[in-house]
Amino acid sequence: MNLILLGAPGSGKGTQAFKLSEKYKIPHISTGDIFREAIKKEDALSLRVKGIVEGGGLVPDEIVLEIVLRELRQESNVAGFVLDGFPRTLPQAESLDKNYREPLKVLYIKLEEKEVVRRLSGRRICKQCGKGYHLLFNPSREERVCDSCGGELYQRKDDEEATIKNRLLVYEKHIGQVLSFYEKKENLSIIEGNKAIEEIFFRLCKVIDE
Ligand code: AMP
Repeated sequence: MNLILLGAPGSGKGTQAFKLSEKYKIPHISTGDIFREAIKKEDALSLRVKGIVEGGGLVPDEIVLEIVLRELRQESNVAGFVLDGFPRTLPQAESLDKNYREPLKVLYIKLEEKEVVRRLSGRRICKQCGKGYHLLFNPSREERVCDSCGGELYQRKDDEEATIKNRLLVYEKHIGQVLSFYEKKENLSIIEGNKAIEEIFFRLCKVIDE
């Protein structure tokens, strides 16, 4: 079960990827999480990506590909994976296709820009386990505390108002090409993102189990 979740920042793909990984017992590979972890640890990768990620730009394809292909090799003995935040550009999609020949299911969560902005500004993440919340749609039981691990919730730097616009511009610039690529391969399913979390999850599972 090799899944790719596509969608704008804030479309809910991180939340859904987390749930899919729990349900199907497959690892959740989020390139955004990998970069945020590197930045937190201030390791070698952080030096290369910190400014880009925090400014809402795209990390160069060769860095992203190196990381994703390495992760996929590590996961090659498990039942599959769910990729979240990758591919984001046509060269990333093409390279994945060339280097990883297993069948993929590509699920695109579609959402209007207006709604995306509303969602991004309320998003909160657990510092400890990375679980996502939303002030309006998916609040934690206790304010600023993760339900799962008790960790502190924070707002990502790139979810701040000033960066959101840039991230959306960057996203819009590339997503069309990525979608056409998978459309031609006939493994793309589109799921309406303007629904409750459980409803979207139900629809995703239905497509996956088909
Ligand atoms: P995300 O959590 O998926 O919104 O990713 C956060 C940030 O990490 C993005 O705004 C980019 O700066 C970087 N990033 C994540 N995935 C990719 C990717 N596939 N290609 C380029 N940059 C990425």
